[in-house]
Amino acid sequence: MKLKRKICLGIECTAHTFGVSILDFDGNVISIINDTYIPETGGLHPRKVREHHLECFDRTITMAMTQANLSIKDINLIAFSQGPGLGPVLRVGALIVRFLSQKLKIPLVGVNHCIGHIEIGRLKCGVKDPLTLYVSGGNTIISAFESERYQIFGETLDIAVGNFIDAFARDAGLQHPGGPKIESLAKKSKKYIPLPYVVKGMDLSFSGLYTAAKNLLKSRDYNRRYNLDDIAYSLQETAFAMLTEVTERALAHTNKTEVLLTGGVAANKRLQEMIAYISNEHNAKYKVVPLKYTGDNGAMIGWTGILKYKEVGADDIEDTTINPKWRMENVEIPWRS
Ligand code: AMP
Ligand code: MG
Repeated sequence: MKLKRKICLGIECTAHTFGVSILDFDGNVISIINDTYIPETGGLHPRKVREHHLECFDRTITMAMTQANLSIKDINLIAFSQGPGLGPVLRVGALIVRFLSQKLKIPLVGVNHCIGHIEIGRLKCGVKDPLTLYVSGGNTIISAFESERYQIFGETLDIAVGNFIDAFARDAGLQHPGGPKIESLAKKSKKYIPLPYVVKGMDLSFSGLYTAAKNLLKSRDYNRRYNLDDIAYSLQETAFAMLTEVTERALAHTNKTEVLLTGGVAANKRLQEMIAYISNEHNAKYKVVPLKYTGDNGAMIGWTGILKYKEVGADDIEDTTINPKWRMENVEIPWRS
């Protein structure tokens, strides 16, 4: 007799995106729906994001169920993003899944969001043990699996690279998210304006670069000796060279033979080109996570939850409170030990 396949509901709720995905325990993604909060002005205000997610969660879960042609009774596991992220936003996600789990008697597992980005990459890109550059609106992390954990080899000391680009784009009058807009402006220039290049040991800092780029917009030379295309080009070249330098050093140090690029900023063609180049130099296989899975989504949470559940089972309800500052090297990875 053919056994009924087991099904997981994955919920992402750490920042701007309320993401829902339904997948089977073999990693086949059956449906994936995102509802992303886009601020009209300014950055992400946690309270507004929370209200957005509260308004859309029921509709988003129902859409994912309908698309998968399943009902909530078919769900064998719920996985959710327990951290790191914005406290008020995480709390909404945790409340929803803890309620569903208890009401419907479905096992629940909490997942580290950053590890979710790596695991979906391993699943979808055919890589086993990559050095990972994870670059997004909220995170900038160079990591690899060593001594039973996903160790952090380098990270930002202040703001994330995506946040830096978005903030600069806003100052330049562009709408959120600024990353894709800056990328297309940068393509129109080859004029490099020197900007602060800040790598400290294996860590990176983008706040000085942000201030310098912002100051260029206010300078009397703006739109005389250089324009917005030139600044966009220069800030990308600087920030991405910093990321590439640290990734290359981590690659040389760890001797990994695969490089994985993920997170929303991984969509950038110029960054892809630089990371592909150093991977090639070190004879490492280079993969970028497919666009559907690079940004925050429920599938990465669902899949990581399945891996965890298969090894150690569900979390007790008292262990499913949120963890806004959860670092990935503090998470045990029993499915890879
Ligand atoms: P995430 O936080 O992973 O959902 O990714 C969102 C971030 O990715 C935002 O900061 C976007 O500006 C950034 N992003 C998306 N597409 C691009 C691109 N083509 N170039 C640079 N950044 C991008
Ligand atoms: Mg993310």
